[in-house]
Amino acid sequence: MNSTQSVQDLKAIVQAMKQAHLAKGPADAALRRDRLLRAASLIKDNHAALAQAMSADFGHRAIYHSMTADVMTTIKMLHYSAENLAQWMQAEAVETPAPGIKGWIQPQPLGVVGIISPWNFPINLAFGPLSGVFAAGNTALLKPSELTPRTSDLFAELVGRYFDAMEFGVVLGNAEVGASFSGLAFDHLVFTGSTTVGRHVMRAAADNLVPVTLELGGKSPVVVDDDADIQVAMERTLTVKTFNAGQICISPDYMLVPQKQVDSLVATAQRFMAKAFPTLQDNTEYTAIISDRHFERLAHLLADAAQKGARVLSLAPAGEPAFDAATRKMAPHLVLDVSDNMQIMQEEIFGPLLPIKTYSDRSEPVAYINAHPRPLAAYYFGNDPVRQQAFALNTTSGALVFNDVMTHVSIETLPFGGVGGSGTGAYHGIHGFRRFSHAKAVVQQSADGASGLRLRAPYADKLQQLMALVG
Ligand code: NAD
Repeated sequence: MNSTQSVQDLKAIVQAMKQAHLAKGPADAALRRDRLLRAASLIKDNHAALAQAMSADFGHRAIYHSMTADVMTTIKMLHYSAENLAQWMQAEAVETPAPGIKGWIQPQPLGVVGIISPWNFPINLAFGPLSGVFAAGNTALLKPSELTPRTSDLFAELVGRYFDAMEFGVVLGNAEVGASFSGLAFDHLVFTGSTTVGRHVMRAAADNLVPVTLELGGKSPVVVDDDADIQVAMERTLTVKTFNAGQICISPDYMLVPQKQVDSLVATAQRFMAKAFPTLQDNTEYTAIISDRHFERLAHLLADAAQKGARVLSLAPAGEPAFDAATRKMAPHLVLDVSDNMQIMQEEIFGPLLPIKTYSDRSEPVAYINAHPRPLAAYYFGNDPVRQQAFALNTTSGALVFNDVMTHVSIETLPFGGVGGSGTGAYHGIHGFRRFSHAKAVVQQSADGASGLRLRAPYADKLQQLMALVG
């Protein structure tokens, strides 16, 4: 399948998949497990070719980034669902108001689920949703990103080898194909990408009343309280900010720190970089920025901030350039003295730049976060349980991690998703199973049908009893 497919072709594919889903009947646990394990095998058997394709697409991608966040994490997600789905599929009995009536919730597949994925973790965000989609008994059609063309081409080829076209297919193409794809009459649509495109997707899906799960982005803050261990806070923040060169949806976007801590944070950042990345441009462990457009966007964010009065501090190793347009490798930068009129404080950064905003009163971080769109994740460094609890209760974010960054994403028992501007709906583990199932209410009436008799005429006696109850 490729971008030359017309909207009519795409409609026909979804229609055929829907018919096949109905004709074959609901997938049993064995088939669901088999689909999950085949998806895991596809990744495992072809990990070297996939890592190579991702690296070529990025310009350079650290093999460690590909093997951990794309290959191993996704296999783990798929295996976890394969192991647990038989239990998740069980109907859940509920209490009923009348004796003899039985009631239960029967999870049921939705049908055909569309998946639109971004480029930053190409395998994880294309195949990760399958851990819920397949576990729930659905079939799927994927539209991966055009910014990783080699990887997406390889997906199409491999999926064709491991799956029947009626259980899992791939549609290749750019934003225009994405727009057509999101207007198809799926039974559910999962979109992972930017908040801007998320709006288009939700509008397009509304035409067919297709329910959506939107996994979006935004600005995830790191709050450093005055009792925090500064070294720990900066080291853990930079560990993630340098992973995939900060091109992560839940990457720490900016830090809110007490004014007096800034100098120690800068010194810690410099020590961290000297140890973790003594070289950078020739270092195969450092990932490049995905495209010229994104590289220029990030360089512009720095220039705009500097021009508006920020202090821009490159963390490049001594003697190396802060960035190189030819390799698209950009050193991490701290951006100090930031203000809200700078673009770097207005849009999601999605790269290795870390603005540090200072505060003088302890109430400021919560007020600042609440004055902006709800983040996908919030990170709080500090050890006082009362203050931790106050932060948890007074801010709303997709996830909250105390004293670390990004830890929540690999805990399969936790839901992963955003809230408000950072998304709607969550998946991972049982949360994905539930998200992509229909929770059908089922009732078995008692043999005497007693509860129904209250509706049967004549009503006079029943009304009298009712009136007595109302009083
Ligand atoms: P993007 O929104 O530009 O593109 C994502 C996908 O949408 C691509 O496949 C693209 O072809 C498609 N698309 C583009 N225009 C479309 C349209 N009008 N209708 C339908 N589909 C369309 O995002 P990106 O640059 O690939 O990824 C980066 C963004 O994704 C960041 O904002 C990041 O925070 C977010 N993200 C979120 C998560 C999460 O789990 N919440 C994970 C990774 C990335």
